Amino acid sequence: MPELPEVETVRIILARDLIGKKIKTVAVTNGRAVRRHKSAKDFRTLLEGHSIKMVQRLGKNLILGLESGNHLVIHLGMSGQLLHAKSAKEPKPKHTHVVFTFASGDELRYVDPRTFGELYVSIPPPEGSELEISKFARLSIGGEGLLLRRQIPELAHLGIDPFEDQIGWDRFAAILRSRSTALKVVLTDQDIIAGIGNIYADESLFSAGLRYDRVAESLSTIEIRRLHRSIAEILTDAIKSGGSTLDDEQFVNPDGKPGTFQQYHQVYNREGCTCYQCRAVIERVVFHQRSTYFCPKCQS
Ligand SMILES: [Zn+2]
Repeated sequence: MPELPEVETVRIILARDLIGKKIKTVAVTNGRAVRRHKSAKDFRTLLEGHSIKMVQRLGKNLILGLESGNHLVIHLGMSGQLLHAKSAKEPKPKHTHVVFTFASGDELRYVDPRTFGELYVSIPPPEGSELEISKFARLSIGGEGLLLRRQIPELAHLGIDPFEDQIGWDRFAAILRSRSTALKVVLTDQDIIAGIGNIYADESLFSAGLRYDRVAESLSTIEIRRLHRSIAEILTDAIKSGGSTLDDEQFVNPDGKPGTFQQYHQVYNREGCTCYQCRAVIERVVFHQRSTYFCPKCQS
């Protein structure tokens, strides 16, 4: 499933390619992809004829700001891909559900074999309306995140985004000290921290030397600072590598290229292999219905 680094990789390329482009037509061939709208026509009408002003991200959501003031929100779900085709002549991959054709003739295609992902147009709430913004996001001291949540009510529930919101380790500490659940549960709860999923939780916890099942509130100040730093470093390195592309999932960027961060995974998908740090055997357990990978010696 695409997580923050993969979605950010897509965002960087779409920002490079699409800003200023006018959406000429939208074709929806699978209504499930636009299920929040009462009809595909309703979705299309909000987009056709409008230009893309900005491409942003919050958690695992891509946000295309339109000159109309509305936002096209795209969540890639488990297997969603956005592909930029130079023209309509390029063959469409199987499971292409939505095609945006620009006035310049190129296309943005939404492809999703499992159709867990979705696209919708969000209309900003009227000025002065009451909005329930996540209490975790409200700890932010800067960045674009709070403004995005105010403009897009569907995303107001999201917890802090490690990049779009700025919080120091001390505010991160306040979050962890208020949770009596396992660390991995806290890191992957989108309403607490937005953007981290299975891969980057396991890699960040390894990097910080912490086990997935440590109770969040039990961490010492040193451990919290280490985890805060590890999350920022792992996500930054993963973005630089264009995200992770695993065998069973087909993440590719809008140019059709896979990421390379899987080569640097220390624990994720490495069950039975030796730890690069200590030579112990990496273990896998099923925790909260998801695979969790960790080193029994390096993480405590
Ligand atoms: Zn180890």
